Amino acid sequence: MCGIVGIVSTKEVSSRIVNSLRKLEYRGYDSAGIATIVEGNINEVKREGRVDFLEKDILKLNLKGDIGIGHVRWATHGKPSKINAHPHSSDQVSVVHNGIIENSTILKKLLEKKGYIFKSQTDTEVIAHLVTDYLKKNSLKSTIIKVLKKLHGSFALGIIFKDRNDLIIGARRGSPLAVGYGPNENYLGSDSYALKSMTNKISYLDDGEFCIIKKDQIEFFEAHGVKINKKVLNLSKEDTYYEKGDYKYFMEKEIDEQPSTLNDCINEYIDKHNNQINLYNFPWKMNLFKSIVLIGCGTAYHSCLVAKYWIEQNTSLDVSIDIASEFRYRKVRFKNDCLYVFVSQSGETADTYAALELCKKNKMKTCAVVNVVESSIAREADLVLPIYCGQEIGVASTKAFLGQMLVLYILSIKISFDQKFINKHEYQSKIKNLLLLSNSAKKTLKLDHKILNIGKVFAHAKGCMFLGRGYSFPIALEGALKLKELAYVHAEGYPAGEMKHGPLALIEEGMPVVVIAPRDDHYKKTMSNMQEVIARGAKVLLITTKSKDEITSENIWEIIEVDQLNNELIPFLITIPLQKLAFYSALEKGYDIDKPRNLAKSVTVE
Ligand code: GLU
Repeated sequence: MCGIVGIVSTKEVSSRIVNSLRKLEYRGYDSAGIATIVEGNINEVKREGRVDFLEKDILKLNLKGDIGIGHVRWATHGKPSKINAHPHSSDQVSVVHNGIIENSTILKKLLEKKGYIFKSQTDTEVIAHLVTDYLKKNSLKSTIIKVLKKLHGSFALGIIFKDRNDLIIGARRGSPLAVGYGPNENYLGSDSYALKSMTNKISYLDDGEFCIIKKDQIEFFEAHGVKINKKVLNLSKEDTYYEKGDYKYFMEKEIDEQPSTLNDCINEYIDKHNNQINLYNFPWKMNLFKSIVLIGCGTAYHSCLVAKYWIEQNTSLDVSIDIASEFRYRKVRFKNDCLYVFVSQSGETADTYAALELCKKNKMKTCAVVNVVESSIAREADLVLPIYCGQEIGVASTKAFLGQMLVLYILSIKISFDQKFINKHEYQSKIKNLLLLSNSAKKTLKLDHKILNIGKVFAHAKGCMFLGRGYSFPIALEGALKLKELAYVHAEGYPAGEMKHGPLALIEEGMPVVVIAPRDDHYKKTMSNMQEVIARGAKVLLITTKSKDEITSENIWEIIEVDQLNNELIPFLITIPLQKLAFYSALEKGYDIDKPRNLAKSVTVE
């Protein structure tokens, strides 16, 4: 979702800004733009659609300038269009913005009364005019302090000035922002990926802070303008941009990588020599906790939902789960003996970050389960448990979901053992089972050819359902979400036992239904629910686990069998065919698999 790049240098910047915007494309966007300053003029180039189109226009215009800002926009206010693309400029300044200015309507009215003319429908344009207005009577620094105070909502900002070709302003509230240090030039970026091709020396702005970036110096300030120092972090040198290799789509590659990403994560947390779990730096005694709250959005929320079953099963903790956008606005009763866990792939999810901040404000104990360890959520939480699955580019999350579940599962058995809920033998046998997971995931990937044809049916369905009980219920939700995200098919995930309380009315002749029924304690009940939908005309794809016992039910359309591991590990394996199902359904329709419409990877707005 939306991205910012800025460079102040002694060399031309436009081609490098475009290159960095390309690194941000994975986040999902609808338009792109750039502005540079040349001889006291602001030169703006904007385009709806891809950065490639923008690059062509920039080359045609031979855009010069040693200082500039660029943006990829994910529209919140005003449709995706050239005019609404960022940067937004007045006759004095040019602004790029990630986030939402909540009081933009009021500010716009005030500015219009003063004679400012608005070109776009965005909330962002008010910032350009507001800065211009304050500059008339204030120094640059006090203009920034006053403007930031006036703005409500969330933002990361990059601002350049017609008469100052020596500096860029960066400011942050809510949306992430980083600066990078280079030789005789410095940078601004909405995340480190944007800057990695130019530098590995990075500092992150914290909420409320702003900075003045010149080619040979970066100064940081807190909201009132008091100068502060920032740590300079050295990012890992490898700078290997994650490439597609022989794959046509990142998502396909990311699904196939899962056996190895599971392995990498297991290697980080399991001491195979001593058959035990290491949660490095876990700062509290486990018996301190009486309850745990797991918070996330979308796919991450589904990983929390699976973890609820594991934690309830294996520990004495009270478990609740929450959707971050709900949690942050509820009257939550905070408890000192509770561990609050925040799950987010990017570690920048705005709602999850806000929920974390709320807990921190109330002095709660917090833990982040993230993929990006330099992210805002990781930096804010007391404890970080990375999922170690490498960069994920496909907007629809796959390997990160398995990674999130894995870390939460490991956490659950660690708590279980430390609480003496299970004995050493049970603990070690759970760990041994875990070591089998990667190989079974590899075998599950081989079911590919079968799912390709099944995907063709789901792709053209009017609607479909995903049913499961126990651990398989959240996986049904995740399967339905993947199909919605990628193939734009209306899909409902439901607890199989709930069908008769309403949704059964939706079943009609030929409707595709996925029934997830591994051979666990729920098997028989779920198979009965399956019969109920078959009897009403559903075309059932049954996902189950291998067994010597035959499946006796009749009229099942297709069956997919995964390895029968320990029941607790089945959610990992049954997810894989569902990811493939969504992938092949989208492929059948010729959709943009890595960048589904209207969606973004890193959801940095509310
Ligand atoms: N709210 C701004 C807009 O709609 C910024 C969106 C973004 O973060 O890309 O233009």
